[in-house]
Parts: sequence; C-alpha cells; structure tokens
Amino acid sequence: MPKDFLKGTRDRYDVVVIGSGLAGLTSANVLARAGYSVLLLEHHYQLGGMATWFKRKNGHIFDISLHGFPFGMKKSCRKYWTQEIADSIVQLKGIRFENPQFSLRTTFDREDFTRIVVEKFGIEHDVVKRFFDTARGMNFFDDQAKTTGELFEEFFPGRDDVVRLLMEPITYANGSTLQDPAITYGIVFSNFMSKGVYTFEGGTDKLVTQMKDELENNGVDIRIRSLVEKIEVAPDRRVTGVVVNGKRIGAGAVVSNANLKSTVLRLVGEENLDKDYVEEAKAVRLNNSSCQVYMALKPGLGFDDMGDLLFHSEHSGFDIDAMLSRDVSSRTFSFYYPRTRPGSDRHLIVSSTNANFSDWADLPEEEYQRAKQELCETTLDCLEQYIPDVREKLDHVEASTPRTFEHYTRHQQGASFGTKFEGLKVSKELPEQVAGLYHAGSVGIIMSGWLGALNYGVIVSNDVDKYLALSPTRV
Ligand SMILES: Cc1cc2nc3c(=O)[nH]c(=O)nc-3n(C[C@H](O)[C@H](O)[C@H](O)COP(=O)(O)OP(=O)(O)OC[C@H]3O[C@@H](n4cnc5c(N)ncnc54)[C@H](O)[C@@H]3O)c2cc1C
Repeated sequence: MPKDFLKGTRDRYDVVVIGSGLAGLTSANVLARAGYSVLLLEHHYQLGGMATWFKRKNGHIFDISLHGFPFGMKKSCRKYWTQEIADSIVQLKGIRFENPQFSLRTTFDREDFTRIVVEKFGIEHDVVKRFFDTARGMNFFDDQAKTTGELFEEFFPGRDDVVRLLMEPITYANGSTLQDPAITYGIVFSNFMSKGVYTFEGGTDKLVTQMKDELENNGVDIRIRSLVEKIEVAPDRRVTGVVVNGKRIGAGAVVSNANLKSTVLRLVGEENLDKDYVEEAKAVRLNNSSCQVYMALKPGLGFDDMGDLLFHSEHSGFDIDAMLSRDVSSRTFSFYYPRTRPGSDRHLIVSSTNANFSDWADLPEEEYQRAKQELCETTLDCLEQYIPDVREKLDHVEASTPRTFEHYTRHQQGASFGTKFEGLKVSKELPEQVAGLYHAGSVGIIMSGWLGALNYGVIVSNDVDKYLALSPTRV
C-alpha cells in the first residue's frame, strides 16, 4: 500500500494553503497565529519551494536561491516569524562586477553606488541623486507606461555601462528587463539600495527548519507529498475546499501559492470564472527561468576571498537576449565560505544564469544530458579565471535547468520569478471572482524574490482574515 500522506487530516479547515514557498509558509503562519485552523499542502517532499537546498555525498549542501535579498527581510521575519530567524540575517559586503566595460567591488548600497557612479563613471552627483530619489519615490500607483529603459534614458542617455551596473543585478534578482514598467525596477532596486544585500547565515535548510518548527508551534497541519488537483468552487462562486491526492478537504478559505496561471486556469478552471478574467489570465506572460551549476570543493579545501556575489560577463553592454541564451556569456557566481554554515569547512560555488524554458524543454534525453555536461564544463572554464586550480580542488559538480525548476516547483515553464507585471492584477482580483480564494506568491516582478513573496503572503493573509471574520463557519 502506498503511504497515505493525508492520514489523520480533518474534513475541514478554516484555511487551506496550497504550496509551501515563502509566501505560502508565511501566509500559513500569520493565519495560524490569528487563531485559524490551517492545513498546508506541499507536493514536494521538502518545504520551501524555490527557497530550497539539496545534499550530496561527502556532506555538501547546496543552496538554490540564497544569493541575496534586501534588508527588509530582517524586519519581515522578526514581525511575521521569529526573532531567532531575523537574527540570522547578515549582510554580504563583497559584490563584484567583472565585464569588458568595468571591474569593481561594492557593498551595493546607495552611498557606495553614488560614489562609484560619480567617481568611476563620471556622472554628475546631482543627476545620480535625482535618479535615486526618483527610483525610491516610485510605487505601485505610479505611471505604469514608462519602461525601465526609458527611465535610464532620461537620466543616463547613451550610457550602457551605467545601465549595465544598475540593471544587471536586478535582472538576476527578478528577471526584469528594460521593457518592463519602470516602477518594477524602482521598487526592487530601492529595496536593495536601502542597506545592501543580505543572506541567511546557516543556510536555507536552517531557515526552513526553523519556519517549520514555528508553524508546528502555531498548530499548522503540514502535509508534504500532497498534490492539490482541484480547487472546489460552489455554484454561488465561493470556494469550498480542495481535492488533494484524490481526497476532498473542505475549507472556509484557500490561499494558493502555486503558479498564478496554474491556479487560475488549471486548479480553478475556466468554467468558474468570468470570460474576461480568463482571457486576462491567459495573456499573463511568465517570467524567465534559470540554469545553475553547483560546485563543491573537497572537504577542507578552499579559495581566497572572491567576494560573495560576482556578476561576470564577456558581453559588452546590457543585453537580455545574451543573458537568456544557452550560449552563456553572463553568469552570476555565488561564493559560499565556511561562514555560510558556521562550523562547516566547506567552500562551494553556485553559478546562476537566466534561461529560456524553450531552449531546454524539448531536448531529447541524450542531448539534454550532453547540454548539461557542457554547461558544467563552460562554467568551470569561466571560473578558472578567478580560481585557477578549481578543477583539481573539485569534489562535486552538477547542473540544473528550467526543466528541473518546473519539476520541483510545478511553475509552468520553470518560471523562476513568477510572472511579468500584468500578473499582479490577475492575482489580486482572484477573490473577486471566487469568494474566499486568494493567490499569494511570486507575481508581477514586484512581489517576487524572497522578500516580495514573503510580504505578499502577509498582505494576502490580512485579506483572508477579513473575509473569515465575516464567515459564520469557523472550525
Ligand atoms: C535559481 C534561482 C535563484 C534565485 N535567487 C534569489 C535570490 O538570490 N534572492 C531572492 O530574493 N530570490 C531569489 N530567487 C527567487 C525566489 O526564490 C522566489 O521568488 C521565491 O522563493 C518564491 O516564493 P513563492 O512563495 O512564490 O513560492 P515558490 O517558491 O514558487 O513555491 C511554490 C510552492 O508551491 C508548491 N506547489 C505548486 N503547485 C502545487 C500543488 N498543486 N499542490 C501542492 N503544492 C504545490 C511547489 O511545490 C512549491 O513548493 C531565485 C529563484 C531561482 C529559481
């Protein structure tokens, strides 16, 4: 008999949360703290969604998306999780750029960036100040027609070196391009510039374990290997429950942390939604996906200080097509030192590149394996510029592709950062279509990344709380 991962679940909960990404986890925690009965359903065997890790022989632990997030995570974790979690959030000070146009190291905050743009790129201080103030003043209700490219052209006309410095890290952080609305850039860039780039000391495994403990303390019923197949909607367009691993479970409200398009078009189904809304959901563009190469050095061996994050490129200027191409010329290296997991003696490197799902989706198995191998080799060739003896020190190397991300998180096309901007409206309007049904998770560029997803989980939980407060049937 296969194991029943839903053994002992109740027939009904106040809230069912589908998916345990940072938005789903946070939503479950906030609602359980508010006194609601919460069931958290995750299809994978591990919680965390994209905020995840994996282990390999000889005790190596690789983090997938622990490259850096804004300082705001500290405040959000203190408020919506625990002081202990917030206390492990520490700054990464060594951010490097190496490309044909410039080579520099920065703490990636406003003060240091201002110095660099003025002294190294020769831009007037007043222009830089106005740019930062404009970016910082942007919010969701601003003009959404202006693109990030137009914003740069206004302040730094013809300066593709400055654009590259300002844009490349944000493209890696959330997949945005020069064609996306300027507000998506302004909000995310300013989040980082407020105090620099931060990480979680102890690794993603420690963070997610602490979150799991906290959820259990707050009474959340957590079930892994539980795939939600359907969100149940009553004829009066109210959510009534879910079908998971073939079993029906009732719910007063449902929060879906699954991919927006999957939630709307597959789990709910067109028949339960307005035609216009369905068309809008279909038109939402997914964000790009990623490839990564994971490299571990033999236990006890290391490398000198390489910085923490290195934006490497052999390309001139900011070129999104080159960044997404399988013919990789731009990579971001994350260097992990023993301090990442205090007490360990491990040095690891993760190389990340943005990628198109279509470049990998249909490769026959043999070709796919060959392409992954080639990705590992070309990444090591590139890394040898910085660590010449890396191949001799290497203990383990492997690659992941957009297919890997799709498999583990069920994001359509392995989208790393949810959807493009228009997805936010569709996500926010879901409860107007089906009462009691909410979406929380990477969407609209602004609400993606660790901080964006976590905060969106909080925002949506507050809406769920208001809805349930009016509902007579609390369990
Ligand atoms: C390679 C890479 C590097 C990144 N680097 C960074 C970084 O350095 N800094 C940063 O801030 N962000 C980074 N990100 C982005 C960040 O990790 C994500 O934006 C964030 O973790 C997404 O959280 P989420 O809440 O949207 O949910 P997700 O992480 O997308 O999780 C959704 C969850 O729902 C589950 N699920 C889906 N469908 C179902 C179903 N039907 N039933 C049950 N469960 C289901 C999935 O299994 C998954 O666990 C990176 C992402 C990638 C891919």
